[in-house]
Amino acid sequence: MAASTHAARAARDLRGAAFLVAPLALVAIATAAAGDPAWTQTVVNFFVALTAVVGIGIYVGNAGIVSFGHTCFMALGGYLSAILTVAPNFKAGNLPGLPAFLAVVELPLPLSLAFVVLGVGLVAGLTGMVIARLDGAAASIATLGLLVIVYNVLIGAREITRGSQAFYGIPITVGVWTAFAAAAVAIVLARVFRGSSIGLELRATREDEPAAGAVGVRAVPRRWSSWLLSAMVAAVAGALYAHFLGVITPKAFYFHLTFALLAMLIVGGMASVSGAVAGAVLVTVLIEALRRLEEGFAIGSLAVPPVFGLTVVGLGLAILLVMYRRPQGLLGFAEIEELVAPAASPHVAPGPLPRVEAAGALVAEGIGRSFGGLRAVDGVDLRLATGEIVGLIGPNGAGKSTLLGLISGVLRPDAGRVTLDGVDATDWPAWRMARRGLGRTFQNIRLFRNLSVHENVEVAARRSGLDAGPLLAQFGLDALAHRPAGTLAYGPQRRLEIARAVALAPRFLLLDEPAAGMNETESDALLDDLRRLRDETGIGLLVIDHDLRLIMRLCDRVVVLDRGQVIAEGPPAVVQKDPAVIEAYLGRAHRPTEPNSEG
Ligand code: ADP
Ligand code: MG
Repeated sequence: MAASTHAARAARDLRGAAFLVAPLALVAIATAAAGDPAWTQTVVNFFVALTAVVGIGIYVGNAGIVSFGHTCFMALGGYLSAILTVAPNFKAGNLPGLPAFLAVVELPLPLSLAFVVLGVGLVAGLTGMVIARLDGAAASIATLGLLVIVYNVLIGAREITRGSQAFYGIPITVGVWTAFAAAAVAIVLARVFRGSSIGLELRATREDEPAAGAVGVRAVPRRWSSWLLSAMVAAVAGALYAHFLGVITPKAFYFHLTFALLAMLIVGGMASVSGAVAGAVLVTVLIEALRRLEEGFAIGSLAVPPVFGLTVVGLGLAILLVMYRRPQGLLGFAEIEELVAPAASPHVAPGPLPRVEAAGALVAEGIGRSFGGLRAVDGVDLRLATGEIVGLIGPNGAGKSTLLGLISGVLRPDAGRVTLDGVDATDWPAWRMARRGLGRTFQNIRLFRNLSVHENVEVAARRSGLDAGPLLAQFGLDALAHRPAGTLAYGPQRRLEIARAVALAPRFLLLDEPAAGMNETESDALLDDLRRLRDETGIGLLVIDHDLRLIMRLCDRVVVLDRGQVIAEGPPAVVQKDPAVIEAYLGRAHRPTEPNSEG
């Protein structure tokens, strides 16, 4: 089954790539047939830029981090390929300081490109070990730093690069077909990566890193692999530039190019390969049109004089306009075939819920955690066995969510320990807890908002080997399968978050206020779902909720937390009558302003 779903997925991605490559092939054929030098120049330039943009998008789009640094890989690719392909007698004259082994080589382009991929891949692999650990603005700034460093190294390494002087004499071996082939390969690679498990998991971290961790995804290695692949594609694009222009300088790969390529990516929509392609087309057309206007033109007898700077200003305005109207770029998060022929959400028969194979227990012993002076959780013992439903209640600020964070590896305890089936799991990060059988939801819903409902569940399902479709049907979400998760109402969002956790086939499931924001009908339905889930799977369920009615009807056992400590524990009927519990709830209600940081 795994092999056939792999094949189906690959077929889908290749079909998507074909949607993009086919029109480009027509452009290539028309250009080759016309043979007009100026037009050929424009088209080759476009294909090379497209290769670079699609390559950059492999990291930027999937990781959701803007990179200013990828032009440095283009520069390295360009220079490396130049040095490897230029004739030895030329090198003897112009680059006398070149190391001996580089001075004598003269490789054909395909071989040189292989070295570019490997060589720049090595640089990207090493820099990625740092950059993949960062996200958001920190990562972007780091990529900018990388660009500046490489630029200055290229200028400084005069013996190899001729410094800031032009490196000329590069064999001009790139025409329409080579450039088209590179763009086509880049598009296929980008589509396959995006649809792969690594790509899907990376997009999940882009949407919500803690939520991705909760389904077992480690963000850093995913980011690293996308960084590596995108750098390799960018490096090839850089090499093609060199062999198209015949002359390069470090400056040709600096801010100006970075800006132009990012403009393409941002205008088209960086979150999809189609967006990268659309942006490259639009920005190229815009630049060409503005460049002609910039030179001055005439309408009948009316002569419009040249306007200097029109191209750059026009490009800037175009970006502003698109960002204002469509902040996610023209294509948003969709691929072209999803827009042209949206997939229907077929009604799938609900599939069986995953059965828990072995009994076991998740145990916290004397666990605690402070925030500043506040003891949020203070020496709590909690035991959750497979097959039971435990309720965790307590007034607002009692420490329930913190306790759940401590058990699930999101927060580090500063006292006590956590064991999973007797194994010490105190220091396990969230992704390892998830991989070892712990699923959870969050109090403030954390979905992968711009991924579809189906993809949200698939991230977890691919890990466990379950089938996402029938599972969605189990939770009544099959009709919404292709909707972006962020567009659902609260009720379905909560259900989706539970479905995603169940898709991990966990043995323990921790739910933080799953009924919050639900009306009575919805929370009654949830109650039935949760009971059925336990009955059919044998999962151990820990449910935090404010809705005492729900907790009392659902749970086998209730634990009451107040000011970080367990104040009562037992069957619902007993706990409900406990004076300490009544005091904790009512006392708090009567003194609403009492700070809970005292004591
Ligand atoms: P509950 O889920 O029972 O409402 P929480 O576990 O969210 O309670 O919070 C317990 C206490 O710890 C509260 O006083 C809260 O303000 C504090 N707290 C929770 N998380 C943090 C944090 N990340 N940083 C600082 N204080 C926190
Ligand atoms: Mg809470």
